[in-house]
Amino acid sequence: MIYVDCDSTLILYDGTHDPVTGAKGWRPNDHLVWCLNWYLEMYPQGVTVWSGGGSAYAAQRARDAGLTQPPRYFTRSKAPALVTPWDVVIDDELEFKTPAQIHLTPEEAIIWFLTVGLTPAW
Ligand SMILES: [Mg+2]
Repeated sequence: MIYVDCDSTLILYDGTHDPVTGAKGWRPNDHLVWCLNWYLEMYPQGVTVWSGGGSAYAAQRARDAGLTQPPRYFTRSKAPALVTPWDVVIDDELEFKTPAQIHLTPEEAIIWFLTVGLTPAW
């Protein structure tokens, strides 16, 4: 399973973002969304989106980003209990620890997708 964060991962901000009141100045992380949509074509159950703002917010931000709708969303605080060592986590906050052995920044994730992430083994 690939777990993906929303803010500053699926959605990028240009500095005017107010995390409390909303989303001015945001744009989709088009390269990452493109990679994830490619992955979802092959593995429709293979992506989960999370956010510290909760599952409903995660679903809304995934739609905003143009992500093909994955089946699962949840609030990020549940991640340590749900993520396994064999999962991949894509999150701008690498200090957020989960059991996954692979934690990638959005930039690293794009490189990962273009190298190992889209091979048949995955
Ligand atoms: Mg984030």
